[in-house]
Order: sequence, then structure tokens, then C-alpha cells
Amino acid sequence: MSWFRRPTPEYINITGPQTKAMKDRIPKDLWHKCRKCSTMTLRKEFEANLSVCPACQRHERLTAADRIAQLVDKGTFVEMHANLAASDPLQFEDKRKYSEYIEASRKKTGLNDSLVCGKGNIGEVPTALAVMDFNFMGGSMGSVLGEKVTRAMELALEENIPCIAITATGGARMQEGILSLMQMAKTSILCAKMEEKGVPFISILSDPSTAGVMASFASLGDLIIAEPGAYVGFAGKRVIEQTIKQPLPANFQTSEFQRDHGFVDIVCPRAEMRATLIRILRMMTGRPALAPEATPVAAMEPPAKD
Ligand SMILES: [Zn+2]
Repeated sequence: MSWFRRPTPEYINITGPQTKAMKDRIPKDLWHKCRKCSTMTLRKEFEANLSVCPACQRHERLTAADRIAQLVDKGTFVEMHANLAASDPLQFEDKRKYSEYIEASRKKTGLNDSLVCGKGNIGEVPTALAVMDFNFMGGSMGSVLGEKVTRAMELALEENIPCIAITATGGARMQEGILSLMQMAKTSILCAKMEEKGVPFISILSDPSTAGVMASFASLGDLIIAEPGAYVGFAGKRVIEQTIKQPLPANFQTSEFQRDHGFVDIVCPRAEMRATLIRILRMMTGRPALAPEATPVAAMEPPAKD
């Protein structure tokens, strides 16, 4: 007779047809798990909170569509140049063909490339918008993205309206080689033209905003706003540490670090972003401030404060 026995495993049987039926009843994506603090939030509540973790305030990445819905007056956004799609001039191939990467991202996001551009009102101010989507090949900047940013800026110049670019990117798209890098010069020229003509350009940096995009139009805004805790910088922290052989501060290349060192003007929580933009855009275009009851609503409003 043995003194110790393993407990009968009657409560740990989790396989079988009943379990499968139970699993099918629970919709996929019902919960959101925070990548920073692991807090589980009902997806519906999480989205109502503008995709910000209620426990640690981590600002989750947004799709371009959600970003536009949060910022633009309801029913005013008109997308432009949605059909522009990347060609494969270098016939690039690594693990897969470049065209296959594009196709996979298209299926995943329903977009033709990593940026949505168009025109919409923000607090009744007509604004040209260029909004990146990180889900499409890491928000990388290829020739289509550069062209769409350029066209948004050209629209701003033509109509003398402000332009806002919202970045979420790992940088230039290596599969397009030098053509990607040329977008840095192309978009920077437009930024210079806007400055010359006095057309306001606001750059909003979300997590992450790095490399070639940071080294061009994203850092050339008249005003640079960043979301809290976003990874903002040119090269990665580890790469710099290895190069200079010195440890860097823990918050190096965050929005807050960049603000404290003068690179970012405002670190603005997502819940206050639309109200902040309305105030700034109306001021920049010489319009009087809107009374709260006269302010139009966005498709997706920030949660009410208690
Ligand atoms: Zn969290």
C-alpha cells in the first residue's frame, strides 16, 4: 500500500465533444489581453475605451479605419486613391515573393497598402489625412505609401487646408529597395512646400514610429503629437546600445522621453486626441473655438468621464 496517491483527475478532463461544443459557444475575440499588464478586458469594453487598456493605459495599435472613426466628424471622411497598389519592380524574393507578402496583407486588412488617405472634417475644419495601418506589412513605407502621403499633402496645398499624418511604422519597405528610400526625399519636399505656403502640417506618432518614416515627414510636422508610451525614434535601442557601448535609460525612445528632450511637442492620451486636434486646427485656421454642444460627434467617441 502506498502512502501517497495522486488525486483522481476527474476535474481536469478538458477534451471531448462537450468541450468543443462549449468552445464553439464562446465567440472568438471575446476578450482582449493586454500585452503589457496581461489584464483581460471584454473586447467590447476595450474598444469602447478607444482600445486603451483600462488597467495600465497601454495604447493598443489601431487600424486606419478605427483611427479615422475616432478623429474625424461622423460621416465626413472621403477616402482617396484607395486603388493605388504596389508593383514589384525589383522582383524581390526572400522567404516568399514580395507579391505574396502584399497579397497576404491585403487579405488580412482589406487594404491595398499600408496607408489610407483622404479628406474629412475635424471639428468642422476640412483636413487632408494620411493614416497608416501597422497591420499591413508593419506599416512599411513603399512607393505607394510615399505617393499617397504626397497626394494628401498636395490636396492640402491646393485647397489651403491643414494636413495630418498619423504614423505607425517600422520604416521603409526593404522589398522596394531604393524606391522606398526615395519616398523620404519626396515627402520631405512636400513638407517644405507646405511650410513655404503656410499650410499647417501636424504629425501624430503612434506606436511604433521609427526609421525611414521618422527620418522624413513624421519628424517634419509644425506640431508633433505622440500617443503615451509609443516607441518613437530612428534606430532601435539595442542597436544604439551595441554601437555606443553604453546603457541607455529605460524610457529611451518613448514619447515621453522624446517630449522631455524637445523632439515631441505634446504627449496626448487617445481619449483627448480629438478634442486637442479640434482646438489646434481651429486655432491654426483662424476659426473661433466651438462650444461643446456645437461640436460635431465622431463615429467613435471617447468614453464619458465619471
Ligand atoms: Zn494593460
